[in-house]
Amino acid sequence: MDKTSIIKNSREFNISSKKYLDFKKKISKYLNPYQVKKIEKSFNLACDAHKGQVRKSGEAYIHHPLSAASLLADFQLDHESIMAAILHDVIEDTEIGKENLKKSFGVKVAELVDGVSKLDKLSFSTKEEADAANLRKMILAMSQDIRVILIKLADRKHNLETIDALDSKKRKKIGKETLEIFAPIALRLGIHSLNKELEDLAFETVYPFRYATLRSMIQKSRGNRKELMEKIKNLIEKKLQDEGLNTSVVAREKHVYGLYKKMKLKEFKFSQINDLFGVRVISNTVDDCYRSLGIIHNLYTPVPGRFKDYIAIPKSNGYQSLHTSIIGPHGLPIEIQIRTKDMNILAESGIASHWFYKSKNIPSLKNYTKEQQWITNLLSIQKDSGNPKEYLKSIKADLHPGKVYVFTPKGNILDLPKRSTIIDYAYAVHTDLGNNYASSKVDDLPASPSTILKNGQRVEILVNKKFIPDPGWLNFVVTEKARHSIRAYLKSIKKIDAIALGKKLLDYSLKDFDIQLNDIPKKTLNIVLQEYSCETIDDLYAEIGLGNSIAKLVAMRIAPTDMPLKENSASNTDIQIRGTEGLVVSYAKCCYPIPGDPILGHISQEKGVVVHRQKCRSLNHMKKSSDETLDLSWADNVDDTFSASIKVEVENVRGVLAMISAQIAQNDFNIESVTYDDTKTTGHNIMVFVISINGVKELNKLIKKLKKNSNILNVERKRS
Ligand code: MN
Repeated sequence: MDKTSIIKNSREFNISSKKYLDFKKKISKYLNPYQVKKIEKSFNLACDAHKGQVRKSGEAYIHHPLSAASLLADFQLDHESIMAAILHDVIEDTEIGKENLKKSFGVKVAELVDGVSKLDKLSFSTKEEADAANLRKMILAMSQDIRVILIKLADRKHNLETIDALDSKKRKKIGKETLEIFAPIALRLGIHSLNKELEDLAFETVYPFRYATLRSMIQKSRGNRKELMEKIKNLIEKKLQDEGLNTSVVAREKHVYGLYKKMKLKEFKFSQINDLFGVRVISNTVDDCYRSLGIIHNLYTPVPGRFKDYIAIPKSNGYQSLHTSIIGPHGLPIEIQIRTKDMNILAESGIASHWFYKSKNIPSLKNYTKEQQWITNLLSIQKDSGNPKEYLKSIKADLHPGKVYVFTPKGNILDLPKRSTIIDYAYAVHTDLGNNYASSKVDDLPASPSTILKNGQRVEILVNKKFIPDPGWLNFVVTEKARHSIRAYLKSIKKIDAIALGKKLLDYSLKDFDIQLNDIPKKTLNIVLQEYSCETIDDLYAEIGLGNSIAKLVAMRIAPTDMPLKENSASNTDIQIRGTEGLVVSYAKCCYPIPGDPILGHISQEKGVVVHRQKCRSLNHMKKSSDETLDLSWADNVDDTFSASIKVEVENVRGVLAMISAQIAQNDFNIESVTYDDTKTTGHNIMVFVISINGVKELNKLIKKLKKNSNILNVERKRS
């Protein structure tokens, strides 16, 4: 032991130190004396074990685990977590092993400590491998007991708080890792308060100058508004009290990294950020929340369209709150959040609130299946991934969505844009894999070329040198590489080859209708050629071979049928779906496809081509059955109206139907039908409107407008 540590030793900690006493006070508020005593025992052991050890900051080591434990006590975590936090570095850094802990504190605590220790135990040759290995361990530990990650997050927070003692290279590494992995995990687990704290600490570490600049801008802005905010806060508080509501009102402020992200993401100037300051009202009951809202809206003018009722319809992570914006003095918009105490705990602590509810023997506001599912999903990625580097890549993808990550049969990871299909994948691996594509499997099951890939799937492509690209693929590929390669291939084939290819494709498609080209009367053939603006049958073959017409649809058009010919079928101007010249096209009433939707055609001799949305559930069984569906795409400039169906969930108030109908009509849309679904007894009504519309863009605009209507709880496209 060197001289410095002996000196520090004399200043070491024990159970009568102030920091420990404060901590003890905190845990005594929610844990029973027996549990507090056990924690004290663990503290004594940790003090002994770390005796003589000094943090880089010069503090006695025990400060660190005690700080982590104290943070978890703020979340009112159970006594096992607190003990494990106090002991979290003893296996790693001292003589004490897992067995010792098991004997003294039980198997649970020993496993938690072991779990935390394992997270950074292994060392690898490269930084990337080390990162990935740690992450892999973390996910595994997390899946066994989520408390391990909560301890790890608390550990990380204190390390960041005392990071000044480290050299700049280490600081940057820890800061970056926090922004990339730990803070997003805290967010995914719904622990917003910790997420914000980690982000700000890490942001300051990685970008000290940016942090300082923004921080001072906020401070300056706060200086200007302090009085104003205080005034608003007091006014709201008093008014709510006068109305007999027992609420607490707090002024709040955006965190620095949140501001940075918003400015960067939306390319906003500082002056354009108007939710820098806000007010939060915490009430006792849900009823009080709505009453407070009414009172505040009476006091100040609400900003139209900013009211959101996340109490009636919680966010997918369980978050509940009322949001509104009011126009404060000097025309300043101010964001107001209103929620109950319980909702506030959930909003701030997320999954960590689970133990809070457990200790009080009250059921938690939500169950954590989503978070559990997420962890299970991460686990399956780790099982499938080939090497640590790829694993790291895929986890980051999961924490920062936008791409889809899939595996090759050898376990390599490929990242593709969202909505990529098997053909996109094939071309991404190798051009030959696309050009000679014969069939494919996703997770060992046969899949069609247009299948949209999902995260974590394993894709296998079987090739055959005799096969060449199907021009129809152009209808669904999303990557430039695939589109370009298919076009390049089709262009490269000479007209004579295009004719041969087109003939082959058409012959093949005609087989489905049990006929051959020779069986087709010349008269029919001539009509069809005219429809496709072709002079000879070779021209038509070439069109098919070059990917301009779809063989299957041409076959269907020339096959004998009882269907009446479409009127004015010679004109191509009113084609809505590419390649359906001369065919009867109708739009499915289950999913109401409109231009802009990804679509599939269901083909039958009785009904012609029935267009469905790719998402349509009723297609599922058809897809499985046989070759009856076909990828389709909209013609370039469709100028027509279509029927679309939207589901509107509304408060059950009088006149609501009339009001919404009026709003739709004011936006120049025709309502074709309305159906009421009052089977649910939630006090809400669900109405399904079928309206005439041009396309997806227009529909989205309408949905956006309707969402701003405060009587409407939710609006969405009806799926099927
Ligand atoms: Mn630690």
